Amino acid sequence: MGTLSGKLALVTGSNSGIGLGVARELAAQGADIVINSFTDRPEDDQIAHDISNEYNVFARYLKADLQNPDECRALVAEAGNVDILVNNAGIQHVAAIEEFPTDKWNAIIAINLSSAFHTTAAALPGMYARGWGRIINIASAHGLTASPYKSAYVAAKHGVVGLTKTTALETAEVDITCNAICPGYVLTPLVEAQIPDTMAKYEMDRETVVREVLLERQPSKQFATTEQIGQTTVFLCSDAAKQITGTTISIDGGWTAL
Ligand code: NAD
Repeated sequence: MGTLSGKLALVTGSNSGIGLGVARELAAQGADIVINSFTDRPEDDQIAHDISNEYNVFARYLKADLQNPDECRALVAEAGNVDILVNNAGIQHVAAIEEFPTDKWNAIIAINLSSAFHTTAAALPGMYARGWGRIINIASAHGLTASPYKSAYVAAKHGVVGLTKTTALETAEVDITCNAICPGYVLTPLVEAQIPDTMAKYEMDRETVVREVLLERQPSKQFATTEQIGQTTVFLCSDAAKQITGTTISIDGGWTAL
């Protein structure tokens, strides 16, 4: 029996990267798991199946495109009694503000910020009714600091930190907490996708791009890992973290200390 046995965790955007790492760590503590993405591939069900087998928990995959507010709310309703909500789904686009495509701006705000509002709104009534809930928003170092050419992402992630604080204040008198985890760079498909363009732009090899560009602001010069983010999520669900609410936890190798 793990410390989270009997709890149901919904992790948005969890068929890959950080979300999958978080889902696995929660399952390792006995939580039942809902995996989500917008895709409809056999691999998605397989991911849930593998988690179920490996950790002996109930796990399933639910498709929902979190760009759509109705699908965000329907996902929570379909998931069941969500005790742990991890708002993780996110995308990136890099361009100067004057060239930033409006559709990319809208998609990033919808997926990275508004989806967390809709899932939280849909999950809170059940958490209040059961008197317990943990909401963990996966923000970013870009929720606390900015970088050029990432206007939508930085705006959305700062918004997530604001939403986290407001959710925490509204739930403060109940055993419901809401916190944001702010990772620096983690080597996931989202970051991997930025490497080829950066190599071409600066005429650098991969190793130089990783050290000089991606990890330039990460003093440890190491990527954070999905396991570290998952284990921090587990900590935020523990009794030791009962009084931790409305705050941010950086996992960024010292980036925000600069
Ligand atoms: P990833 O690309 O591996 O995963 C993103 C997940 O979001 C995938 O499961 C994808 O299917 C899902 N997703 C995308 N659009 C969706 C939509 N419309 N509906 C439902 N799901 C959708 O990326 P990642 O690096 O694991 O990123 C996960 C989160 O962590 C994001 O919010 C990202 O901003 C944040 N983050 C990542 C890093 C990093 O360095 N990788 C750093 C800080 C914060």
